Amino acid sequence: EGSDWGEERVSGAAVIAQALKTQDVQYMFGVVGFPVTEIAVAAQQLGIRYIGMRNEQAACYAASAIGYLTSRPGVCLVVSGPGLIHALGGMANANMNCWPLIVIAGSSERSQETMGAFQEFPQVEACRLYSKFSAQPSSIQHIPSVIEKAVRSSIYGRPGACYIDIPADLVILQENVNSVKYKECCMPPPISMAETSAVCMAASVIRSAKQPLLIIGKGAAYAHAEDSIRKLVEQCNLPFLPTPMGKGVVPDSHPNCVGAARSRALQSADVIMLFGARLNWILHFGLPPRYQPDVKFIQVDICAEELGNNVKPAVTLLGDVNAVSKQLLEQLDKTAWQCPAESKWWETLREKMKSNQVVSKELASRKSLPMNYYTVFYHVQEQLPRDCFVISEGANTMDIGRTVLQNYLPRHRLDAGTFGTMGVGLGFAIAAALVAKDKSPGQRVICVEGDSAFGFSGMEVETICRYNLPIILLVVNNNGIYQGFNADTWKEMLNFQDATTASPPMCLLPNSHYEQVMSAFGGKGYFVQTPEELQNSLRQTLADTSTPSLINIMIEPQSTRKAQVSAFNLTVTCQVND
Ligand code: ADP
Ligand code: MG
Repeated sequence: EGSDWGEERVSGAAVIAQALKTQDVQYMFGVVGFPVTEIAVAAQQLGIRYIGMRNEQAACYAASAIGYLTSRPGVCLVVSGPGLIHALGGMANANMNCWPLIVIAGSSERSQETMGAFQEFPQVEACRLYSKFSAQPSSIQHIPSVIEKAVRSSIYGRPGACYIDIPADLVILQENVNSVKYKECCMPPPISMAETSAVCMAASVIRSAKQPLLIIGKGAAYAHAEDSIRKLVEQCNLPFLPTPMGKGVVPDSHPNCVGAARSRALQSADVIMLFGARLNWILHFGLPPRYQPDVKFIQVDICAEELGNNVKPAVTLLGDVNAVSKQLLEQLDKTAWQCPAESKWWETLREKMKSNQVVSKELASRKSLPMNYYTVFYHVQEQLPRDCFVISEGANTMDIGRTVLQNYLPRHRLDAGTFGTMGVGLGFAIAAALVAKDKSPGQRVICVEGDSAFGFSGMEVETICRYNLPIILLVVNNNGIYQGFNADTWKEMLNFQDATTASPPMCLLPNSHYEQVMSAFGGKGYFVQTPEELQNSLRQTLADTSTPSLINIMIEPQSTRKAQVSAFNLTVTCQVND
């Protein structure tokens, strides 16, 4: 078998590439090396785009963002042992976010297993905790069905990460072309709808509401539910609140968006429609004192196991959030129910939004230098194109940025997410820039990083420059994690002592010129200290659609949110923000 003269031969690498291509995989990110280099080359030969990154973790973040943005998984390709272990962070993040992702790693040769082979590690077992599916094909002929199953599993049901392990010997092994059969491209996931009786019950609970609230999560963004949810908001005049990545499903500028009165809306609502969002830490578990003890939740999710977590819902609607929104629309249309614009509820929310906005405006207008967060974000927001992607991470940088920077389009905000992962920004930005280039040319990617967050994947600036992706990186620099110190104070603190014992753990080197990381690779770097410098550099970078850039924005090292808080904690943030 497999040695007939004259038969065309095919390598494992070529079969992997063809199987991925057949499953409509379009993007592959990775760091090559033994034994996976051939796989990247084979993929490129079939027109799959390969983006070589500088660390597997960032590559995996990038691949996972492709899944969220395009509904088809991206691939992260890594070497065995340490390569795969670096990628685990990205797998965990994707799985926690419910984003589709395929990770493919090489592994040691099967004949050397248990012998202490080069980079030997129990990879299939290691990936189980980080994925929904983890397997090793047993032969070249088995590869197409494992790849089809991985792609299908990543997008069907609750989306997530899938792992495929490729032993080194399989990559280079050759087999007769005719012995390999490819599986047909798996269809997009079937659309599931909620039970009719549950939809009727939900509609009657909504009609009984005095203080209704719609919460839009990133599950709704992933489901492309923007049109039906917007109709529901407008038909019923519902106040809505996006979660961080639910921003843009209905534009932040919509008059029914009550993001600026978040705490009040959550605290006083009597009926909450939860659309593709979990009642986890981001939503304070759905529990008092952040909610009314008897608030009625109408929970919509594609994952049955999610229904009832932390709170017993009044109604559960198991199904695709876009389909279920349409079902609800139809049901509610029969009575033309609305939350009256002149109701006490709307009045309370509007008042609260107004007073909160006054506070942020005041902070933004302060003229003192170094600038505070609000001044920085206010000027960024002024020039932000409406259709841009906003990527954001950092503690204060992300939390305050979220309240000021607006999203107008769905799936155009990416951040630390469910897992609160730092270091995702540059990988996400690279993925968004590729998607923009291929699918919506002209859309810009603005990546707003804290100085600490930037450090996790800073070398990906080289990747950005190598592929010439016109990403705008903003590093909001306070010389530290949460907070830092200015150069003089820092020097005094060290006072000829050893920095390892004298430097506060949250300190980073004061006045670091991160913009030079960008200029080192041919992009444009700006160091800004005043609102005018910020405005000018932003104007220049937005006008230049072909060059990557980094604006290093110095802010007051002790600047915080409206009130003093001690740690990266959205729970606290939201409390003080409204
Ligand atoms: P957020 O971070 O915005 O609060 P989460 O990630 O906590 O959102 O929740 C997203 C939820 O959306 C998950 O529970 C997931 O199962 C669900 N989900 C994903 N896709 C769909 C879909 N097509 N229809 C309904 N729910 C979905
Ligand atoms: Mg910082």
